[in-house]
Amino acid sequence: MHETLKKYFGYSSFLPLQEDIIRDLLDNKDVFVLMPTGAGKSLCYQLPAILSGGTAIVISPLIALMKDQVDGLTANGISAACINSTMSPQEINSVRSRLLRNEVRILYITPERVAQSEFSSFLKQLNVTLIAIDEAHCISEWGHDFRPEYRQLSSLKSMFPTIPIAALTATAVPQVQRDIITQLQLRSPCTHHGSFNRKNLFYRVRPKDNAYSELVMYLRDHRRDSGIIYCQSRKGAESLATSIQAEGFRALPYHAGLESNERTETQDKFIKDDIEIVVATIAFGMGIDKPNVRFVIHYDIPKNLESYYQETGRAGRDGLRSDCLLFFSYGDKTKIEFFIEQKDSPEQKQIARNQLRRMIDFCESTTCRRKMLLNYFGEEFPETNCGNCDVCLEPKQTIDGTVIAQKILSCVFRIEERFGIHYVIDILRGSRTQQILQNNHETLSTYGIGKEYSKKQWHSFTRELIQLEYLKLEDDRFPVLKLTPKAHEVLRGKETVLLTKPASEHRPSRRIAGDSPEVDLFEKLRALRKKLADQQNIPPYVIF
Ligand code: ADP
Ligand code: ZN
Repeated sequence: MHETLKKYFGYSSFLPLQEDIIRDLLDNKDVFVLMPTGAGKSLCYQLPAILSGGTAIVISPLIALMKDQVDGLTANGISAACINSTMSPQEINSVRSRLLRNEVRILYITPERVAQSEFSSFLKQLNVTLIAIDEAHCISEWGHDFRPEYRQLSSLKSMFPTIPIAALTATAVPQVQRDIITQLQLRSPCTHHGSFNRKNLFYRVRPKDNAYSELVMYLRDHRRDSGIIYCQSRKGAESLATSIQAEGFRALPYHAGLESNERTETQDKFIKDDIEIVVATIAFGMGIDKPNVRFVIHYDIPKNLESYYQETGRAGRDGLRSDCLLFFSYGDKTKIEFFIEQKDSPEQKQIARNQLRRMIDFCESTTCRRKMLLNYFGEEFPETNCGNCDVCLEPKQTIDGTVIAQKILSCVFRIEERFGIHYVIDILRGSRTQQILQNNHETLSTYGIGKEYSKKQWHSFTRELIQLEYLKLEDDRFPVLKLTPKAHEVLRGKETVLLTKPASEHRPSRRIAGDSPEVDLFEKLRALRKKLADQQNIPPYVIF
């Protein structure tokens, strides 16, 4: 094994888990591999494929990446090939002949191909020694990237009952892991879990109140650094790219709506450090292996933690400290909910809603971000302070929030746990909304007892009580606040509640306020730059 590693791949030692996985496969065992991107999963099936003397079939969803893999292997002197829909019948036939002559060690195909009965009978004629299924999470409906064509892979086990199957993925929550194993009918698979902890990534979540100024301040502090800014929509990415270009940053947009040559060009410029920043939708990043990405900023929230982990994971591949900054607003949450409601299948809707809820929990969390993220993927993180996230490094100041909690909880109790957050806050603040008057709720003893805090502050208190499990949001036709058993202890005065000190009281805003002289100057400079650029036809990303 070590000889082959050195001879074909040029490495003198294995990365963690690689050797164990390869041994299991050579022992004819099925394996389930959950390792983060960049951990070296491909080698786990490529090396046994070389040793086996037969053909390993690798199932991969992306034709574009398939070609890169084959080229890379061929360059290392490993006989590899692929068959996919972009190839001509002649090309396919020539690969087939090579396969029949047992000249190909590794064959890449798409999942659709497996379903074609003619093709699967062809595969049966070969000396297949191993089947590797890349991006195996795509088989699960519970995952974030379900691809129906992956379902057809369930038949592989019965087609090749004695051949070991390796299912590999970089992302799967425990439920998805179980689903992959069941769907692929793996026989008591050996599971190998790599750690998902990215120690060098600093995680921070910021409320999206002054996101643009904060973003620009951040970029100014990191002038020479490469980074990606993710936006939810194509339009958002375009306009943000234009704005920061006007600030003097070398940035370009990237999304699926752009011509493919334009996309490739932007990607190349980014990789060659001709531009520092790509403002992108989720379309950007797959297969990009740039080691020195110093920051990944989410200008809008991603729709689930899987995407968040993948996207932030593009930062700091070189192991140096890198930042992951996320701007969070409930407005963005509502936008994603809107898209979720457009889905056809009620199951898919429910899955997406749950995933979004976990994403929001992460943003609102007052416990270590790293711990939450790792726990989500089923990994224990034993430390209470990771030393590299905003929660751990900048502990929030707390106040005795018992009375605040009692006000909210008793209000929920008095309205019989039948309403949502906004309604409760309106009662506390004594709003005369039509709904409150219709329900006669202006007569409640909790009506108007909360004028000392703003709507927004009540909102964050309520969110925090949900986080602390004194309240829960239950979906009826709309989300309704319910008390948990813990809440009754607080209502009886038996439990003290610590809450985060409201922002305006303890943070004399480091952020630029709208009317500060700093912002004025900043705006003037920006306008001046833009004017000059327009007059002289200078591309906006040129710094002068
Ligand atoms: P994954 O599929 O898990 O995302 P890859 O298989 O693409 O990861 O491997 C990531 C990188 O690690 C590649 O550049 C690969 O060449 C390199 N690599 C793999 N195995 C080793 C090893 N044993 N020693 C050093 N580098 C390795
Ligand atoms: Zn932490």
